[in-house]
Amino acid sequence: MSGKADPRAAGEGTTSRTRLDRGRGALGPALELVHTGRAPTRAVLTAELGVTRATAGAVAAELEALGLIRVDARPGAAAGSQGRPSHRLSVAEDGPVALAAQVHADGFRAALVGLGGRIVATAPGCETVDADPAKVLGSVVEAGAELLRTTGRRCVGAGLAVPSAVAEPDGLALNPLHLAWPAGAPVRRIFAECVRAAGIGGPAFAANDVNLAALAEHRHGAGRGARDLLCVATGHRGVGGALVLDGRLHSGSSGLALEVGHLTVNPEGRPCHCGSRGCLDVEADPMAFLTAAGREPGPEVSLLKQADDLIRHHYDDTAVRGATEALIDRLGLGLAGLVNILNPDRIILGGLHRTLCDADPQRLRAVVADRSLWGQSGGVPILPCTLDHNSLVGAAELAWQPVLDDPLTALT
Ligand SMILES: [Zn+2]
Repeated sequence: MSGKADPRAAGEGTTSRTRLDRGRGALGPALELVHTGRAPTRAVLTAELGVTRATAGAVAAELEALGLIRVDARPGAAAGSQGRPSHRLSVAEDGPVALAAQVHADGFRAALVGLGGRIVATAPGCETVDADPAKVLGSVVEAGAELLRTTGRRCVGAGLAVPSAVAEPDGLALNPLHLAWPAGAPVRRIFAECVRAAGIGGPAFAANDVNLAALAEHRHGAGRGARDLLCVATGHRGVGGALVLDGRLHSGSSGLALEVGHLTVNPEGRPCHCGSRGCLDVEADPMAFLTAAGREPGPEVSLLKQADDLIRHHYDDTAVRGATEALIDRLGLGLAGLVNILNPDRIILGGLHRTLCDADPQRLRAVVADRSLWGQSGGVPILPCTLDHNSLVGAAELAWQPVLDDPLTALT
């Protein structure tokens, strides 16, 4: 028996304040439910949280008072529906935002992202990446600071996506291979200093771009509801992977898990910068596609866009179709190995892989089914990512996480 008083003993005299004290631990879970679209009404929130209606009401009211969500007490009832409709819950359209930044092989970009993964504002993308990470991160943070000034939004923190494994606990970009950055650059510390110098409040985070894409897709896109979600994607160069387990990124003992780019998918293939040969990284990225299609990459737009455009607009060209099939086969071989090792319940594909999957989903599913033990019956759904800018949205998720964990402490 616990010596604590039974909270129900408060009985009739219960005020909304004591209800909230009781529900304080539910604020974070409640916010996450609204943030991810899983609690569109107060009735669903009550059921999902497993609390009383009164507690759910107090929790929703407190999140509204913090400026995070909107509670619509008089939603229009559908014609002919019976009874009083439950209060509608949605993220506050004019609430706080996170500053999100992304650096990739062909440029960088800043955006403001609200709850619900909604991009509120974006700065024009820049197309050159200086060899000094401090210059690049200073520019991208300044672009974000300008967005905050023009929109007047409150900022909860900042997140950065980089095309490199990020080693923990120090936040070092270990292998920014397609940037001219030095290996092991302390990107999180530099980013945090730029954020502070720009007068932006809240904590600053940095992580690998495909990890962040997977997190964003799990919360708001093609990965919703998956328990063991595998994401494989090309950036503008190279191939990355990520695993979201029970809603959290699986990043390994020092942040370096799921380096899928160096799976061998073509033993006779081209040499890879890792020292091996025929890795997914050099056999299934936009550059590999352009080479397979016999196209000289042009300087005017990113390699990813050039490859995407060829598949979307020139699929009747036999060289383009042949290159598409070759890359699907290599990607499928890589996915088959991952399916056996990780036993995911869903696979989502981003970047050029999303376009390959859209071009011939049957071929891709057949390769995975033929070449894997657990994929044999076609039992693992393979879907394209659905969010635009999923790495940016994922970078914002990092900054939102302290608020999702404990809204009152993070915001007051
Ligand atoms: Zn390699």
